Amino acid sequence: MNITRIFRAAAGMAAAFSLLLSCGAGKKTPAADDARQENADVAPVALTAFSPDSAYAYVGRQVAFGPRVPGTEAHRLCGDWLSAKLKGFGADVTEQTATLTTFDGTRIPMRNIFARVNPGAERRILLLAHWDSRPWADNDPDESKHAAPVDGANDGASGVGVILELARTFSKTNETTGIDILLCDAEDWGEESNDESWALGTRHFANNLPIQGYMPSAAILLDMVGAPDATFMREYFSQLANPALADEIWSIAKSLGYGDMFVNRMGSAVNDDHVELIKAGIPTIDIIDYREGEGFFSGWHTSADNMDAISKETLGAVGRVIEKYINRNN
Ligand SMILES: [Zn+2]
Repeated sequence: MNITRIFRAAAGMAAAFSLLLSCGAGKKTPAADDARQENADVAPVALTAFSPDSAYAYVGRQVAFGPRVPGTEAHRLCGDWLSAKLKGFGADVTEQTATLTTFDGTRIPMRNIFARVNPGAERRILLLAHWDSRPWADNDPDESKHAAPVDGANDGASGVGVILELARTFSKTNETTGIDILLCDAEDWGEESNDESWALGTRHFANNLPIQGYMPSAAILLDMVGAPDATFMREYFSQLANPALADEIWSIAKSLGYGDMFVNRMGSAVNDDHVELIKAGIPTIDIIDYREGEGFFSGWHTSADNMDAISKETLGAVGRVIEKYINRNN
């Protein structure tokens, strides 16, 4: 993913962000807020089934295949593993494959993995994360490393690891809401100056929906959700597309004691997989680590994006926020 031109060009965007935020908050009624607060106060402490150790192991398993660059053996084997894992959790798994052309003219085998838990339920929540990793460490401080692929432990595998762990826990419960999972491919073969070069797999998904008229009630993208010092602010396009969901997620995070990590302020505009779904009318938010004045985590698109960059605490926080959101909406 990259930062969009809108963000780069917008000197006065901070004012627009705060306006948007207040517009989103203004849609709620005080009564609804009161009721929510009351429920939060009287609700028993929820038991969590989400295991940060398990999520961490799923991240490590992906990284152990090697960089998941489309067209490589590591990519193929990891895709097979992800598909089998989701089937093992009892999900209905289908794959979308296509040969796509990247910005540099490379033809790559794209493979989106789409899994459905409780496929009979009408109400659907879609969770997604990209499972490919970047072919180049082109942000590495050491130029000699720029041509080598990244491990993508945080940039890619972390979101997938959290979603796999959630899928494991869903499979043990009798949910009335259906959960869909999209492990999207070919997100990270992009170039900084070309907004259209990213998120090729999700664009393909949005243009070739596997189910006619597919429209989940909410969709949540997890990207770079494993760094020890992660900061999740409210991403600009997410706020435009689904302010009520953003309200709910950041409110849940606060109620669970993760308010320092989920900073409830407008962040930047990030060009990521969620933009392709939003264009298709699917209300989507992106939970992504992007720090004010700093940018993405320090290992972004570098050789340092390895397992040393992964924190169980961060994976656990994100997993438990999503788990609680799903339990509340079930
Ligand atoms: Zn990336």
